[in-house]
Amino acid sequence: MPELPEVETCRRALEPLLVGRQIGSYRSSGLALRAQASAGDMAELGGRVIEQVARRSKYLIITASGQAVLVHLGMTGQLFVSQGEPPWARHEHWRLELSDGWLRYRDPRRFGMLLRCSEAALAAHPRLVGLGPEPLTERWTDEAFIAACKRSSRAIKAVIMDAKTVVGVGNIYAAEALFAAGIDPRRSADRVAPARLRRLRREIIAVLERALDSGGSTVRTFLSSDGAPGYFAQQLAVYGRQGEPCRTCERPLRLIRLGGRSTVFCGSCQR
Ligand SMILES: [Zn+2]
Repeated sequence: MPELPEVETCRRALEPLLVGRQIGSYRSSGLALRAQASAGDMAELGGRVIEQVARRSKYLIITASGQAVLVHLGMTGQLFVSQGEPPWARHEHWRLELSDGWLRYRDPRRFGMLLRCSEAALAAHPRLVGLGPEPLTERWTDEAFIAACKRSSRAIKAVIMDAKTVVGVGNIYAAEALFAAGIDPRRSADRVAPARLRRLRREIIAVLERALDSGGSTVRTFLSSDGAPGYFAQQLAVYGRQGEPCRTCERPLRLIRLGGRSTVFCGSCQR
């Protein structure tokens, strides 16, 4: 599933291909997505020039002359740009004409979303309102993170994966950051000492930045219809390694269910 670093890598790859292009027609294959703007709604974009490709949490936000398009990649969504008028690909859901090609979206599992609103309505959009700070910006501070943890007796892993605390910390990155910070994922958030929370915040930022750095080399895959999506093969310390030896103490890593999610951790290094 694309997480924040994958979506940000996608944004960076698309930006130079989209900004400055004029939008033409919109076409849909008729395959249903989790949420999809109507053809009439998308027709509002015709003739407008793309000004920006932004990201909020895992939503890509394309703005064009006062209008905005929100794209969520769901579990298997891929955006890519093609020249000319290519035939529809398998699992392709929609395409948007550009001055020099097509922005195309394919999604075999159909959990993605395509939404349209005016740029003025963006800040109050129901999908965006209530989201917590972006982890890689100055808006996410130690103070804000410690305050959020002090308010909750839920497991620390659930709190860092809650988009109200901070956006974009998915299951993989939560498990890796908790291991790096030496914190048991089951521990009540309000019972983790502030110094350890500061360490955890630094580790969350570090794991996301490593993923972004390794994403640079996969950028070209967003430009072709047959390319694999830009998932990152960064070396993971715990995620997916249940039963294998901890890289620090060599004891086998444990797998538990926590808040409905699988969680791998070291029962001896994480307290
Ligand atoms: Zn260990």
